[in-house]
Amino acid sequence: MFDKTLAVIYNLAPDTKIKYKDEVWWWAILPENRRQSTTTLGKTIYFPSRSQEGWIILAHEGVHEVNFIRSPFQFFCDYLFPQWLAIIPLALSIATFLCGLWPVGIALIIVATIILAPHRSRRRLDLEKQAFLMTLAIEYWLAGRISEETIDKISKSLCGATYYYMVDSLEEAKDETERMAELVWRYKGLVWEIPYEPFSNHKSKIYKDMYELVTGAE
Ligand SMILES: [Zn+2]
Repeated sequence: MFDKTLAVIYNLAPDTKIKYKDEVWWWAILPENRRQSTTTLGKTIYFPSRSQEGWIILAHEGVHEVNFIRSPFQFFCDYLFPQWLAIIPLALSIATFLCGLWPVGIALIIVATIILAPHRSRRRLDLEKQAFLMTLAIEYWLAGRISEETIDKISKSLCGATYYYMVDSLEEAKDETERMAELVWRYKGLVWEIPYEPFSNHKSKIYKDMYELVTGAE
């Protein structure tokens, strides 16, 4: 199933690459908790190790790939919003230090630090919601229902360190996840038929392709 899921992703995002964090040197210098989950960076999907790859996770990351290749720059800005904005005061601080304006440079570094701290991020949440829509839909296609356990697990990850605390509280994360699960249930797993836009790219072909793969439907 892993290879078939990968084939679906290749079809829509042909340059996708799979790598393993324990085989890439620079992951070793990042914190332990960053190495335990699967991460998509640009066109590469990094699993923690070869033994930890799974097709359901791959399908989730595939949604990120499809969104990334649709508009790489926008994906980068949205996913890293607002933290990427720290580039501006950091660049200005270098310029002011070079001009000898130390107090201004220090003030700019403080501004950059504030921007780099965790902040609520609707843009990152929207991109993760699109990917978790796939996670939830797959469970629905396979089991005809979505378990409380899955909703709990997703809610906790949405407001935790994995996504740099992009949601303020567990309640809010749970509301978001339950609303998605409710949509999956209401549209009987045919998520691309949801008529309005709770996400920006939920009509992407990847959902229908995965549905056909998982259910054997045409
Ligand atoms: Zn994700």
